[in-house]
Amino acid sequence: MRLSIVVPCFNEEAVIELFDEEIRRSLDDLPIDYELCYVDDGSSDDTLEHLRKLAAQHPGTTRYVSFSRNFGKEAGMLAGLREATGDAVVLMDADLQHPPELIERMLELYDRGHDQVIARRTREGDKAVRSAVSRLYYRAVNKWVDVELKDGVGDFRLLSRQAVDALLSLPEYNRFSKGLFSWIGFDTVTFDYENVARGAGETKWRFGALLNYGMDGLISFNNRPLRIAIYLGLALVGVAALYAAWITGVAIVDGIDSPGYVTLIVAIVGLGGLQMVMLGLIGEYIGRIYYETKRRPHFLVKETNAPRATFRAEGY
Ligand code: UDP
Ligand code: MG
Repeated sequence: MRLSIVVPCFNEEAVIELFDEEIRRSLDDLPIDYELCYVDDGSSDDTLEHLRKLAAQHPGTTRYVSFSRNFGKEAGMLAGLREATGDAVVLMDADLQHPPELIERMLELYDRGHDQVIARRTREGDKAVRSAVSRLYYRAVNKWVDVELKDGVGDFRLLSRQAVDALLSLPEYNRFSKGLFSWIGFDTVTFDYENVARGAGETKWRFGALLNYGMDGLISFNNRPLRIAIYLGLALVGVAALYAAWITGVAIVDGIDSPGYVTLIVAIVGLGGLQMVMLGLIGEYIGRIYYETKRRPHFLVKETNAPRATFRAEGY
């Protein structure tokens, strides 16, 4: 049994060597072969230096791929999955928020025949507002979107070779992994672990990035939001028709009275806003089509120590 650990790293110089030490300590205790696949996602600090050093220290078990610029964590995970040769792959963050000692538990569940083993973190220690917003968000997404996204479920998981190959067979440019994991299906099991704080360094998620990520989740999987737009439009037309009938009726019975321009302004502003939102929504889908049709690679590689024969990725 050979296990690959895929680790996307972006500006993780403060914690990467500590991570490497801890993960090796956990893996050396297990009766398996392993390899570590690090992906440097265009870090502007010394992360790549550290990776070169680690690769020189442990040549048999360390591979790294370094991108020409920051392509985002999704691209990093994709590169790592392509590079991984193991019978199973564990996706992990470099910041020690994903405890290496849980891998043993994951392998146990994998041995029992599960293809995806998900470690779900509790939200302890998160800011109250952030976790409340997250919870609301997941409720909304699960209502609208075909795939199921669970609160607290991140990218920390074990995937069997079959599941990895399934993920790699999805050709889309816009990759929303949380949804893709759920879309591919297979025998999935989840267990909980206590939330841990970052080992060192700081989170790469700013509020704006989170907002964009949330939007991706809503529209990456189907066109139900567009459907909602149609129903909303129909409902508004219905309300307007009723209101018009009522006003006409009142005018016929009582004669014309109040001018009602407040109603007019509210209607114009409200409908104008709604149209902008719906146009933006349509634009989002068209934008996605635009990116998909360009068929650009997900990432470009600047440097790697991986042997050429195993290159399956674009851009090498
Ligand atoms: N990461 C990456 N590319 C990016 C942003 C983040 O590869 O553009 C990596 C990062 O190095 C870490 C993981 O993704 O290993 C999770 O990032 P972070 O800890 O900042 O996110 P959080 O845990 O706060 O959700
Ligand atoms: Mg983190």
